[in-house]
Amino acid sequence: MPPSTSIDLAERRARRMLRLLPLFTLSVIGIIIALEGLRLWHDYRRVIGEANASATNLARAAAQNVEDALRQVDSMSGGITERIEGDGLANLRASRLHALLKRQVELLPQLHGLFIYGADGRWLVTDKAQIPPNANNADREYFAWHRTHADRLLHVGPVIISRSTGDPVIPVSRRINNPDGSFAGVFLATLRLAYFQRFYAGFQIDDQGTFVVALADGTLLMRHPALPGISGRDLGQSPLFRDYLPRVDSGVVELDSPLDGIRRIYGFRRVDGYPVVIQAGLSRQTALQPLLLDVIKTALVLGVLCCGIGLFGAALLRQFRYRLVIEGELRAAHESLNQMAYQDGLTGLANRRRLDLALNDELSRARRLRYPVALIMLDLDRFKLFNDRYGHPAGDHCLVAVAGALKATAARSSDLAVRYGGEEMALLLPNTPFQGACKVADDLLQRIRALAIAHQDNERGVVTASLGIYVCHPAEQAVQPADLIKATDALLYAAKHSGRDRWRGASAGILAQGTGAG
Ligand code: GH3
Ligand code: MG
Ligand code: MG
Repeated sequence: MPPSTSIDLAERRARRMLRLLPLFTLSVIGIIIALEGLRLWHDYRRVIGEANASATNLARAAAQNVEDALRQVDSMSGGITERIEGDGLANLRASRLHALLKRQVELLPQLHGLFIYGADGRWLVTDKAQIPPNANNADREYFAWHRTHADRLLHVGPVIISRSTGDPVIPVSRRINNPDGSFAGVFLATLRLAYFQRFYAGFQIDDQGTFVVALADGTLLMRHPALPGISGRDLGQSPLFRDYLPRVDSGVVELDSPLDGIRRIYGFRRVDGYPVVIQAGLSRQTALQPLLLDVIKTALVLGVLCCGIGLFGAALLRQFRYRLVIEGELRAAHESLNQMAYQDGLTGLANRRRLDLALNDELSRARRLRYPVALIMLDLDRFKLFNDRYGHPAGDHCLVAVAGALKATAARSSDLAVRYGGEEMALLLPNTPFQGACKVADDLLQRIRALAIAHQDNERGVVTASLGIYVCHPAEQAVQPADLIKATDALLYAAKHSGRDRWRGASAGILAQGTGAG
């Protein structure tokens, strides 16, 4: 039967698509997610990088501000101290010095006050109009420091509450020596915390952003925005002071704040030349906030997109499955059509159309491969009378039985048993020589007789058939299908006329006949 190649091809393609489609859909979804993930990762790195840069810059600006404030005080206090030491404390011209100090406080906005104390802690001169009676600062940390440390460096102490104004101030002090180098007193400058707070307030930082100023040993001086009660807190054991500052003077690090527990990106820096450390912290959460929104938006869009692709893939998959079902049905219909087109409905033998196709194929193949082709044609004897006596349905049964005998005789797979029309049948035997075909004809006659189907109007009393055999050699003779049929048919009628229930055969000049009587 001719193969249904186009349906097969379509089905194979549909099956391949069925296998590839889920893979393809998942790959597309995977690639989209991977690309978006990569983009978000880059954005995350960029945002963190920008926050690191901002924190570093803020720390640098704040450190510069503190350094400038301290350096001005350093230079101013150095000059005045030298002058006092040159004149000698005993010869202090208090009114001139008071005017000088007052002028300095007016000039330098970071200054809260300037004070000169004697060796016993008594107030000698200040920028203030009045010295409180019996005022003595010998108990202050910085005073004790200078009394016991001979160095002339500027000393920055923890925040104190000013005894003159009640403001929180940072004491910055310097030792005053007698000509012999012994302790003569202390020069103190107090810096307003408010000055620094104002400076930090000028920066636009996020809600959770902070500036922290501490002494190098970790003693907290101030924080912006201000937090009550934290001044003087020891941050020495915080990770920044414990792990980072011993190794580097500046940098950026992400830490949980020891003051409020919020995670921040801290730019930190030691103030050049002074024992002060600045931290500028930006909230990691605030920095990542826009990115978080982007992540949520991207996740939503990706979710919808992936769902859409998934649904589209599923719909396509359903379509392919449906197509496969349709193609299966089409194939079944095609096959049954094929059967109808090439098979005889009553006997199940091949029909005449099929014989025509097979003859064409076989003759050309035999021509190529140089083998003989035999055709046997069969016609039941006195079958009209059979029908007349036993009826048409019995005639049909008889035809089916003879077809069975024909099929049984066509032993090779290449043999083709055919119902040629009415009660005429045929056997196409490729690659069969004349003797072989005659043997097959004998066998067939015997098989039909052996069916022993009663036929009172036939000479033998049972159903018999007459056969014509023609064996051609397409490689040696020009032979067309019609020639072969015509020649075989003629021999069949010769068999009829010479008495029925026998065969007549011919091939390339050979003529023969037989009755199959064993
Ligand atoms: P002969 O021996 O000369 O062949 O005599 P015959 O009666 O067989 O003559 P012929 O071959 O011309 O007769 C054909 C008859 O076969 C006609 C018809 O009654 C019968 N026949 C043809 N096709 C069918 C069929 O499909 N079913 C049945 N029951 N009979 C058929
Ligand atoms: Mg006939
Ligand atoms: Mg007949």
